[in-house]
Amino acid sequence: MTFEATSDTLAPLSFTAEQLDSAAAKCVALQQSGRELHSKRPFAALLLSPDNETVLISSLSLSHVRHAECEVARNAADNYDWNYLAKCTMVSTWEPCAMCAGTIYWAHIGRLVYLASEKTLQELIGAGNVENLTLDLPCRAVFAAGQTPVEVSGPLKAEGWEQKLVFSLARKNKIALPDLPHFQSPDALAARYDRFDNLDDFLNIHYANMSVLITEDDFYELVWYYVLAAHADGVHHAEVFFDPQSHTPRGVPIASVTRGYKRALDRAESELEVTSCLIMCFLRHLPVASAEATFDSVNDFIRDGSIHAVGLDSSEVEFPPELFTDVFQKAKEVGLRHAERIDHGIRLVEDQGLLKEIAAKGTLLTICPLSNVYLRTVKSIASLPLREFLDSGVQFSLNSDDPAYFGDGILNNYCAVQEAFGFSIDDWKTIAISGVRGSWIGDERKRVLLEKIADVAGSFKSVA
Ligand SMILES: [Zn+2]
Repeated sequence: MTFEATSDTLAPLSFTAEQLDSAAAKCVALQQSGRELHSKRPFAALLLSPDNETVLISSLSLSHVRHAECEVARNAADNYDWNYLAKCTMVSTWEPCAMCAGTIYWAHIGRLVYLASEKTLQELIGAGNVENLTLDLPCRAVFAAGQTPVEVSGPLKAEGWEQKLVFSLARKNKIALPDLPHFQSPDALAARYDRFDNLDDFLNIHYANMSVLITEDDFYELVWYYVLAAHADGVHHAEVFFDPQSHTPRGVPIASVTRGYKRALDRAESELEVTSCLIMCFLRHLPVASAEATFDSVNDFIRDGSIHAVGLDSSEVEFPPELFTDVFQKAKEVGLRHAERIDHGIRLVEDQGLLKEIAAKGTLLTICPLSNVYLRTVKSIASLPLREFLDSGVQFSLNSDDPAYFGDGILNNYCAVQEAFGFSIDDWKTIAISGVRGSWIGDERKRVLLEKIADVAGSFKSVA
């Protein structure tokens, strides 16, 4: 069976982040109270109305044949209209068993969100447990055999959203992924990221992954899931790089890319209070004329504020930045930020004169620790000159570079640095403040973020 490979375990886009959090919290609370107050088994399910918020019915697990999910589904079918239920969502703490999935199907409930998988449950309680002889049949297999659709999201706490998105968009856009072992499932793809043989090997996989991004909604979805992951890592502000030239040669209009990104980032600001700037990068290995054409095609998006800055990406060795002076000059003329910071910049430590100059100027270095290790720029995190930079007053921020590929998001980068350096709370305060000061957000937002940093640093001092 290949349901694992085709399972879409991403949160439903029709839910706001808050609605999803709230539904999950209600379900977990119900399960907990059932256990503590009524000595029920730890399973709970509830039914949300089409507003994604109102709880219509809920249930605990009542017996070995009256599971929480099928109790809710039966009650729902008895009390609500068949067509109305197609617009409702069942939320359950665990993946429904085959019996419950069948009942959900017959009740005509349109969407299911579950928090943890049947497989995880089995691992947790062990095989042959007479209390719960789990039925090893994924609920998606049951729904796939039906005649009306049930949209499934879960398990919600799953890692690896990036690989899952590759498969779900490939399915939606009917794009054939390469017939290779690592393109058989999201897990196989994720495992492959641990051992890129060389740059070409990485790029082959990267291009195959990108080929599934076609419509504005695809780019929206990609950025929205990125933002959810960044938010979970504690990100308050993100300055995101994107390369339109990776998509336009495939026939994807630049407007689809930019609008998709912008919509997701706007949603992040309104729902999650995560602010952002979008930095459009030119690919250095492509002709300068291609960069010029790209720049000329985004006039509208510069004017409406969607794009804040320009930068350079891709191979450095044969393609010096001087090639792009003219297009950067144009960007400057229309008020875009550019070339005010140094990305990476870790070799600055090799030139003490320049290091002093950069420190005096207050120029920000944007350092991506795990990326430097993955791409073998340094042997280990500990060999990054972070201590030297702090001691000589060079301002730097810590960032994630291609988080889907190079060691995950920002939190992993922060943790790896802390493990290697054991920085004090004052060191971290300096790093965080440098990042905010060197960012491209307005003064008011900077003030808010600096205040948050002071609060957090203060709370650490008081317990120390
Ligand atoms: Zn069940």
